Amino acid sequence: MEKSKDNQTDNIISGVHNYCDRWCERCRFIKRCTVGLAELERMSEDKSDIEIWDEIATNLTNTIKLISEKAAELGIDLTNLDDIEIVKKSPNEIEKLAMDYGTAAHHWMNNIREKIDELTQKVIEQELAIPDFKEAFDVINWFEFFIGVKTRRAFQGYQSENEFEKNDSDGSAKIALIAIDNSIEAYLVLYHQFPEYEDDILGLLKQLSKLKKHLLTAFPDAISFIRPGFDE
Ligand code: SF4
Repeated sequence: MEKSKDNQTDNIISGVHNYCDRWCERCRFIKRCTVGLAELERMSEDKSDIEIWDEIATNLTNTIKLISEKAAELGIDLTNLDDIEIVKKSPNEIEKLAMDYGTAAHHWMNNIREKIDELTQKVIEQELAIPDFKEAFDVINWFEFFIGVKTRRAFQGYQSENEFEKNDSDGSAKIALIAIDNSIEAYLVLYHQFPEYEDDILGLLKQLSKLKKHLLTAFPDAISFIRPGFDE
């Protein structure tokens, strides 16, 4: 038992939990992260087979691939933000944009939650695979306020001369940007599935795209920041 704990400690990636999306149950590093191991222990109290979490991580990889394909099918180039014009904003204003997005997304998700649950239940009753719109819904739901929290943290060390603070800002901005990209891709899945919500989805996509551009402008080094574990 002691030996197995030592092995776990040897395997830990230092600082991996600092710039992740905190979605431990879907994280491929759950067994190499101190926070993840604690979470795993907590979850295993309810789960009889710990391997179920490996399965969930595999499912997530497949889902992300599926979501990316859907985005491509719609012919939307999410990497090209050149068409979006932005007026330079202060850190406070950008943080507000991020929090406003979270609130708007939260309200909208509450409006469609019943419909998503109802449709998902029907699929489960027919013993079919969990639909991709349910996965997309969960992704948006997970990140709705996470983006604002990480945006706020990024601006704590904004333009700092201190190397640690600057790195922390870039790392926080990077995970906020990743969460934005994952959310954008998830909205495209919903857009494809529920065209009746086109106006709402386009509005939320616009908010996210603007925020993304502001973050890329404020933190030009964020994308090249190397997150422990994930980018190595
Ligand atoms: S690195 Fe993975 S396991 Fe660790 S806190 Fe982040 S999401 Fe959870």
